[in-house]
Amino acid sequence: MPELPEVEVTRRQISGILLGRTIARVETTAASYFFLTRPEQLAKKLKGRVVRALERKGKYLIAELDDGASLLLHLGMTGQLFAAGSASLRLLSSSAGATLAPEAQLDAFEPDQHTHLRVRFADRGPALYFRDARKFGKVQWLAPGEESERLAKLGVDALAATGADLYAAARKRRTPIKSVLLDQQVLAGVGNIYADEALFLAEVRPTKPANKLTRDRCDAVVAAAQQVMLRSIETGGSSISDYVRPDGSDGGYQDERRVYAREGEPCLRCGKASRIKRVVIATRSSFFCPRCQR
Ligand SMILES: [Zn+2]
Repeated sequence: MPELPEVEVTRRQISGILLGRTIARVETTAASYFFLTRPEQLAKKLKGRVVRALERKGKYLIAELDDGASLLLHLGMTGQLFAAGSASLRLLSSSAGATLAPEAQLDAFEPDQHTHLRVRFADRGPALYFRDARKFGKVQWLAPGEESERLAKLGVDALAATGADLYAAARKRRTPIKSVLLDQQVLAGVGNIYADEALFLAEVRPTKPANKLTRDRCDAVVAAAQQVMLRSIETGGSSISDYVRPDGSDGGYQDERRVYAREGEPCLRCGKASRIKRVVIATRSSFFCPRCQR
């Protein structure tokens, strides 16, 4: 699932192919829960518009249009935003990829039934595709001045957060600190991988009751979360599951994980003395070192 770093990498790369170009035509798949704005209306509202800025809040992207309206995009579980012409095995991994000959897989991607949004430009340069095999992504057009209920509910963006933001929420809850970190209304953008990595760096056990964390330890957790997310952005995000960078290449962060999905392997801090454990917290797998994290 794309988390803050993957969405930020997407934002930076998509900005290059989106900003300043005039939208000529929008093509979509049939109306569904993917479209918070109906496809016909979306096509009508976007035609002729120019994207002036592409912002991010948490895991949402917000394209600001030249008429004051905006377009909200969320990648959901398996969403992929990329330019036409991108070549990648991963783009196809959840559909036909396995049955295609290797030569065919390396050809540029052709829009398929999972490509729910195609934005074509007046300059006839590369189109923008939004593909989502599991379809948990979202697209919404917002009128000038209209506030998105989804954005209004989000807490402070995790990269702009401080320990005080986490402490204010944590001290009122007895739930595991990991659940508080995943709550998008507290810190927006932190997902499962980075929450586990941050708690490992900060030496905090994911199951620890949130209200038992001191302000200092909240500072350490937020600093660690920002450190791992900024490092991930630098390396292009994590290519676990279906995430790909918008140019079709894989991110590099998955090679730097210290605990996530390393169950049974030796801890990289205390060595062979301890192996990484997995527990389930709020239906999500959590990985930690029982010796380093208290
Ligand atoms: Zn350890």
